[in-house]
Amino acid sequence: MLETICDVLVEGYKRNWSTSRDSNVSIRYYDRDHFYITPTGVRKQTLQPDQFKKIKVLGNTWEDRPYTDISANLRPSGELPLHFGLQKKLGQHDNDIRVVVHLHPTYCIAAMHAGIHLNELTKDFPELSRYTKVAPNVGDVPPISQELADQCHEKLELDHDTGHIKYDIVGIKGHGVVSIDTSPWRAYEHIERLEHICKIVLASGKF
Ligand SMILES: [Zn+2]
Repeated sequence: MLETICDVLVEGYKRNWSTSRDSNVSIRYYDRDHFYITPTGVRKQTLQPDQFKKIKVLGNTWEDRPYTDISANLRPSGELPLHFGLQKKLGQHDNDIRVVVHLHPTYCIAAMHAGIHLNELTKDFPELSRYTKVAPNVGDVPPISQELADQCHEKLELDHDTGHIKYDIVGIKGHGVVSIDTSPWRAYEHIERLEHICKIVLASGKF
């Protein structure tokens, strides 16, 4: 599955949904007390599975655990608080896998910059609402901050006790999106679907 995450990051890079060092992904299996997260400061289009960081979940805090010799010299993504909140309890995915993908898709960000509320697009585009539940936008928050994590969790309506989330994807104004599902490609598809609709809306000039 870590290899699949690397494939998703390559595809995201090719689509201009990320520059080399942006973007981050985490994955947790329901029967493990830890999750894996991409490291910071590494080119994501050439990321290898042995570069992932292993993070042990200890209630409301975490511990960086040894994984490979290569990853020992790396640090976890700066967006770890965002991922940790979504990985400490798996909610509706607690019999499965939870993957959290953060990317910077061009048209989603452009739409938010133009003042579009991504969650309102679901009203006009049934193919979006059919498969993807879009949360209200997060406003301006600093990257790699606890505030970004808290705001994303709030807009996704994350229940901190159970890990249940109401939405599949949330946009962060001036920054990117966070998507959650049971596989890397499923999480990717939420982004792809929303990106496609944002492109259409912006092309229409009616917003
Ligand atoms: Zn980002």
